[in-house]
Amino acid sequence: MKLLSVIVPCYNEEENVRDFYDELFKNAAFFQNNEIEVELLYIDDGSRDKTAEEVRKLRDEDARVHLVSFSRNFGKEAAIYAGLQKAKGDLVVLMDADLQDPPSLLPEMYGYIEAGYDSVATRRVTRKGEPVLRSFFARMFYRLMNRISRTEIVDGARDYRLMTRQVVDAILAMTEYNRFTKGIFGWVGYETKWLEYENVERRKGETKWSFWKLFLYSLEGIVAFSTAPLTIAVVMGTLFCVLAFAMIIFIIARTLLFGDPTSGWPSLVCIILLVSGVQLFCLGILGQYLSKTYMEVKKRPIYLVKEDF
Ligand code: UDP
Ligand code: MG
Repeated sequence: MKLLSVIVPCYNEEENVRDFYDELFKNAAFFQNNEIEVELLYIDDGSRDKTAEEVRKLRDEDARVHLVSFSRNFGKEAAIYAGLQKAKGDLVVLMDADLQDPPSLLPEMYGYIEAGYDSVATRRVTRKGEPVLRSFFARMFYRLMNRISRTEIVDGARDYRLMTRQVVDAILAMTEYNRFTKGIFGWVGYETKWLEYENVERRKGETKWSFWKLFLYSLEGIVAFSTAPLTIAVVMGTLFCVLAFAMIIFIIARTLLFGDPTSGWPSLVCIILLVSGVQLFCLGILGQYLSKTYMEVKKRPIYLVKEDF
């Protein structure tokens, strides 16, 4: 018998807990035929609704259901990490609670693992049902990211992924506090098969990601997997130094030749504004990395558990 761990991060998903269970076990025949045992791990990321209660009810009916409850909302990345730590399976799969990651794809994914792949990942080819502006910025982000980072981050990639124990252990070995899972998957490598599917809309409830949250998340991704912005600061600094040097020579020469008529106030103000703006910008970039380093150095736990069975 093989053990398959299904990890489901949940934040206010009371309506979806049971639906997910039902949908997953529609594959019961497939599990049986391939001698797969299932453990279903719901990670309750500090939900304020009845998510935990729904899971407890399921547990009374089926001992394959497990729950890890956080003391507060720590974010999906923390939930994924907690799930991976708890999972005992030879194979592990990550899925959203809202059924946007259809469990019906599991047999196909499993086929590729059998064929020798270490991990089977999914990406959406369409962003149907998503605001146009959001799709546009998402595209821009992935293009930028792949320019400035050596870690491959695939456009439209979801966290829906089936992995072998070896890959899971590699991910668990990355104990960083600032977790950008999409980058971590790319960073660990291994033979990955990509499956494509059409975007499925969330079954019930609402998305937990506002545009602003996504924007901050993308900055996090950049800082976590690229140091290119620091280079931008260096390049800009160098450019301005060279410019300033040329200006100094020019001004000295002009003063020697033509005397010193006191003019040029507007240009001076422009230069001061521009240069101090660039300085602040570069300081900001530095601050971003410093703050991430600060959080990392504190070595705070990634999540705190309230309930675990
Ligand atoms: N989620 C979580 N913690 C959070 C936000 C989201 O565990 O702070 C879970 C959520 O319950 C869902 C998954 O992450 O199972 C994806 O969230 P959502 O569907 O809101 O994101 P979207 O699909 O719109 O990108
Ligand atoms: Mg969703």
